[in-house]
Amino acid sequence: MSRAASATIHIDALRHNLGVVRRRAPASRVLAVVKADGYGHGLERVAHALEGADGFGVAALADAERLRAAGLSQRIVLLSGFDEPADLPALRRLAVETVVHHDSQLDMLAAERDALPPLRVWLKLDSGMHRLGFAPERAVEVHARLRALPNVDNEIVLMTHFAASDEFASSRTPEQQAAFEHAVDGLPGLRSLANSAAVLGWPATHADWIRPGGALYGLSAVDGKSGVDLGLQPAMTLSTRLVAINRVARGERVGYGGTFACPDDMPIGVAAIGYGDGYPRSAPSGTPVLVNGQRAPIVGRVSMDLLAIDLRALPDARVGDPVVLWGRGLPIEEIAASAGTIGYELACGITRRVRFVED
Ligand SMILES: *Cc1c(COP(=O)(O)O)cnc(C)c1O
Repeated sequence: MSRAASATIHIDALRHNLGVVRRRAPASRVLAVVKADGYGHGLERVAHALEGADGFGVAALADAERLRAAGLSQRIVLLSGFDEPADLPALRRLAVETVVHHDSQLDMLAAERDALPPLRVWLKLDSGMHRLGFAPERAVEVHARLRALPNVDNEIVLMTHFAASDEFASSRTPEQQAAFEHAVDGLPGLRSLANSAAVLGWPATHADWIRPGGALYGLSAVDGKSGVDLGLQPAMTLSTRLVAINRVARGERVGYGGTFACPDDMPIGVAAIGYGDGYPRSAPSGTPVLVNGQRAPIVGRVSMDLLAIDLRALPDARVGDPVVLWGRGLPIEEIAASAGTIGYELACGITRRVRFVED
């Protein structure tokens, strides 16, 4: 028997979520962010499902290569930019646009001399996150340098990225927006600021291109809210089956380290999934799963291939019954909160031995 652990990717949910972000930002073009293998959902599968997007944002040139090989002809933007001269002919060959955020990239472009056709670039300014981007006061100078290069297309998209757009009560996003707008005031070119949380919570930032990632997968970046709370549908359901049910006596301990002591004589279900599949080992006793669609808590430590479930409330559960770890009926954000992380990290962390199926 093959391992039961599987990730079902809901193609209709991806499409639904694209519709949601489009309706939220009707005047903007959509750069669907598909980095990290489509946030763990499978790059080609996600890109085909999201063919209605205006472009795709990737973090690695290899991902752009995969999208082109899969026959996708939309615009593609390399969000973290190129990092060596050999990337430049590859960008051209694949017709991929690139973010430019650092002087080292300006130098590589200048050294490339007469290469054609001109590359399309997205000039990234650091409006306050202090990760990637030129200081705002350099916007005019860097823009002029790029425009003077014959190997760079004249149409330069101006962009920035938010550090805290998921905090809807914070002033940091409007402050970053103001810093960006001041920096690019008078410069020609389309503007792009908004990630998922800004698409949902900061309409004034939508501008010409929105760059949603998580929202397309039904993931919430907003503390205390699930994707479903935000009108999104989960694009992944992670599930497996019960491979054993054992009666364990009161006072006996379950799993590595014996961190859970049975308060009763009780049925313990064992499900075929563990941290080797990407289920977080940090999920403590009490984290919910769905057995036959009903909630039950996990108990003891998650092991590599297995985890244990308190079945006291589900006396009819049988070996072979389905167990859902997150997805439809169980928001990934709930598991993430329990494990001390965010849904994004859980989705990206599904490992290669998990079988992916589409519905
Ligand atoms: C990852 C990323 C996004 C998408 O962020 P989400 O929170 O997933 O919507 C947008 N822009 C840039 C530059 C990114 O790196």
